[in-house]
Amino acid sequence: MTTTVELAPFRFFDLQVVRTRRLGPSMVRITFAGEDLKDFAAGGRDQSLSLFLPQPGQQAPVVPVDAGDGSAIFAAWRALPDDVRAVMRSYTVREQRRDPDEVDIDFALHTATSAADAAGVGPACRWAQQAAPGHRVMVLGPAIADNTAVRFRPPEDTDWVLIWADETALPAAAAILEWLPAGTQARVWLEVPHAADRQDLKTAADARITWLVRDEGAPSALEAVSGAELPEGTPYAWIAGESGSVKALRRHLVRERELDRRRVTFVGYWRRGVSEDGLREEAATEESSDM
Ligand SMILES: Cc1cc2nc3c(=O)[nH]c(=O)nc-3n(C[C@H](O)[C@H](O)[C@H](O)COP(=O)(O)OP(=O)(O)OC[C@H]3O[C@@H](n4cnc5c(N)ncnc54)[C@H](O)[C@@H]3O)c2cc1C
Repeated sequence: MTTTVELAPFRFFDLQVVRTRRLGPSMVRITFAGEDLKDFAAGGRDQSLSLFLPQPGQQAPVVPVDAGDGSAIFAAWRALPDDVRAVMRSYTVREQRRDPDEVDIDFALHTATSAADAAGVGPACRWAQQAAPGHRVMVLGPAIADNTAVRFRPPEDTDWVLIWADETALPAAAAILEWLPAGTQARVWLEVPHAADRQDLKTAADARITWLVRDEGAPSALEAVSGAELPEGTPYAWIAGESGSVKALRRHLVRERELDRRRVTFVGYWRRGVSEDGLREEAATEESSDM
């Protein structure tokens, strides 16, 4: 008789900060370690995870570790009192390494855009600014490398790849560029706040990378891409970052450039003026009104 062991694709990992490194004015790399990481299996590319952070005054985040998996975890987390349950935010695995087991996450450090938006610096950004060795987090992350939180999936007949990312999706774009097979033709736009936020990116792809530096008056995502001459052949597009930019760019690609919508992966990583909790509430309300 053979027994099939079904591994849950996502589970909790108890991690601690081991070091931090400033990559530029708007980005800090935080490296995490922990016993549990031996079972962590990132799929590369834009592998995302849910990061659970302690509330102010707590030593460790409060999460429902024994709640089962999938939606049961989220329901159990939501059932905890607001001022007790961990802050949950979405992030990307920039890199996973073995010997020793470590995971890097790159955090974009955003600032309040106006005095009226003093609440604009969210809890995850604040946590990242103050992170130091020994600080504890929980991660709901992959235990199987082929999992649904890897969204960059070019169909086999793809001739070339289009990528647009702002600073929050730069870690994912950088990991995608590292993953792309040698010679893949890629047209890439990366938007960052300051010139010193540009990074040296490694890739074996035939990638033409344009940095859009906002404080140098760079064109918007839509202006940059709509004004570009694109390669011939069948494209696959991956666009991620601020929701408004992502939406405008997707509309342009599908309507004006006539890309097959199934060949455009688009993810709003954040929305101006709305916290991730706010976005989650909106999605939950939409879901319940669809029922
Ligand atoms: C799948 C996925 C992967 C992601 N990966 C990463 C990643 O690897 N690195 C990363 O830095 N981010 C990543 N993000 C984005 C990150 O989750 C959001 O920026 C998140 O809102 C940050 O949480 P916060 O607590 O700092 O701010 P929140 O409390 O969520 O928001 C507070 C305020 O800050 C604003 N805000 C949020 N982010 C920014 C920003 N970058 N610039 C300006 N204002 C902002 C909001 O609009 C809101 O007004 C990812 C998001 C998704 C969905």
